[in-house]
Amino acid sequence: MTKQPDADELPIHDFPTATSVAEFTRNIADVRANIARAAARVGRPPADIQLLPVSKTVPEERVRLAIAAGCTQLGENKVQEAKRKSETLADLGVEWSMIGHLQTNKARDVAAFASEFQALDSLRAAAALDRRLQAAGRSLDVYVQVNTSAEPQKYGLPPEELEAFLRELPQYTSLRVRGLMTLAIFTSDTPRVRTCFTLLRTLRDRMRELDPGLVGDGGLSMGMSGDYEVAIEEGATCVRVGQAVFGARQVPDSHYWPEAFPQETAGAPPGPRP
Ligand SMILES: *Cc1c(COP(=O)(O)O)cnc(C)c1O
Repeated sequence: MTKQPDADELPIHDFPTATSVAEFTRNIADVRANIARAAARVGRPPADIQLLPVSKTVPEERVRLAIAAGCTQLGENKVQEAKRKSETLADLGVEWSMIGHLQTNKARDVAAFASEFQALDSLRAAAALDRRLQAAGRSLDVYVQVNTSAEPQKYGLPPEELEAFLRELPQYTSLRVRGLMTLAIFTSDTPRVRTCFTLLRTLRDRMRELDPGLVGDGGLSMGMSGDYEVAIEEGATCVRVGQAVFGARQVPDSHYWPEAFPQETAGAPPGPRP
């Protein structure tokens, strides 16, 4: 259900809310079909692209339905919410990927329940996680978040700091570097969105040339409900998709990235992206 996009505009999706296992199965199949089409356009095997469903703000009853429809790993932005869900859904054996900014005082929680952390952008967070993980005898998959939009946004390393950062990471032996992660600029202007994804891939390639060990597996986590097809065309190996799987979210994006929406307050009603 995609309206015809204007030239150079991202398609406008309406994201149907899934309230049964069958509806989740259909939404997931639709997303996987889109992934396969985007991969085919650039000659990539669709199996190279992981779909990470993002369940933030979704109540536990509906998360259970998504798990019944086959989701085995779920992405969450906020530690408190993820921790609560990991406890109440512990019987289902699903893995939790933290995709939002980490305050170091929450490192102990993340080290206890998460299998992956995609938003690593400070050595303080790396050290805090490593200390807790060592104590627990666990390891954690991590992606290093890069700010590719050159917006004065808080989260993600500036590209010019990436190399030095990656060279420090091996000392934190419980962290397993899976690759790089980014959020594209919030706009419906596809060429500008694409620029962010191209930059992340270019950085990955440059780091690999410097030293093949620097970026670990060399994965690229990029692309969300509104732009994952573009991200796949630019090399994404993991797409983080919430609304296209679960349904439109009532909480505005400014709640998660206030710095990207300076004109809105965090409590503003959902509206079109600027
Ligand atoms: C919420 C979120 C997503 C998914 O966004 P949707 O628009 O629901 O697909 C992806 N990445 C991060 C970091 C998020 O917080």
